[in-house]
Amino acid sequence: MKFRSHVWNELRSPEIAAARDAGAVVVIPIGATEQHGAHLPLDTDVLSATRVALGAAELSKEPPILVAKIASVGFSPHHMMHPGTISLRMETFTALVRDVVVSVRRHGFRKIIFVNGHGGNVAPLSAMAHELAAEGMPIVFCSYWDLIRSEIAETLEGSRKTVGHAGEFETSVLLHVRPEGVRLEAAVDERRPPWNPRLRHDVLVEAGAVFPPIFSSDSTGVLGDARRASTEKGRKLFESAVSRLADLARRVAEADLFEASVWEEPEP
Ligand SMILES: [Zn+2]
Repeated sequence: MKFRSHVWNELRSPEIAAARDAGAVVVIPIGATEQHGAHLPLDTDVLSATRVALGAAELSKEPPILVAKIASVGFSPHHMMHPGTISLRMETFTALVRDVVVSVRRHGFRKIIFVNGHGGNVAPLSAMAHELAAEGMPIVFCSYWDLIRSEIAETLEGSRKTVGHAGEFETSVLLHVRPEGVRLEAAVDERRPPWNPRLRHDVLVEAGAVFPPIFSSDSTGVLGDARRASTEKGRKLFESAVSRLADLARRVAEADLFEASVWEEPEP
C-alpha cells in the first residue's frame, strides 16, 4: 500500500484507518533535546532516530510503516549542567510513552516499535516495555545503534569504538543527515569521563545506576573522538540502521504477539 506520507501526523484520519486496515506497523522515534558538545545541535538524538525511522518507512514495501512523531524531548537529567538541555522527569517520560501506546492501540494498531536515539531513555523505555507487556500491550523497542553494533565496531577508528556521546559515531551520523548543523572545527577527542567525580560514578555503576552521573559543567559534554567523524562513515552506518529497522518491522509484523494481562483473572 502506498501512503501519501509516511508521517502519521501529516495524514488525514481516514488515511490512518486505511493504513491500519493494511496492517501498518507504527514506528515511534524517541530521542532528546540535550547538549551535544560545542559541535552538534541539541536535537541530534531525536533527529537521528526520526531519520532512521523515515528511512525504514520509505524502504519497506511490506509491511507498510507509519512514523508517528510524538515528542522531541526525553529523559536527560544527566545533561542539565550544560545550557540547552530540556528534560522530562522520569514519571513524565514514562507517562508519555504509556499514553501514546494506549492512543495508538485505541485506533486498532497492534504492532508498535519505539526507535530510540538517546542513551538516557533506555532504562525508562525498557521498564515501560516490561510493564506494558505485562498488561497485554506489548511494544518493541530498540535504540537504533543496537541494530548495527558490529558495523559500529568495524567502522569507527577512534579510541572509543562504541556510541559514546557526541563522539565519532553521532557526529558521523549528523554529517550524513544534516551536515549544516555540525561545527566540525569545534569537535574534540574526549577520553576523560565527563562525570562529576563527587557523584562517585565508580560506586553508583556497581549498583546498576548507569546514568545518575551528571556531565559536569566543566566537561566538554563529549565522550569519544568526534574529530574522526566523516560523512562516509555516517552514510554507511545510517543506511545499515535503516535496512535493519525495516527488517525488524517485517519480523514484528509477522509475529503473533501475546496480548494478555497478567493482572486480570483468566476467562473461566
Ligand atoms: Zn546523542
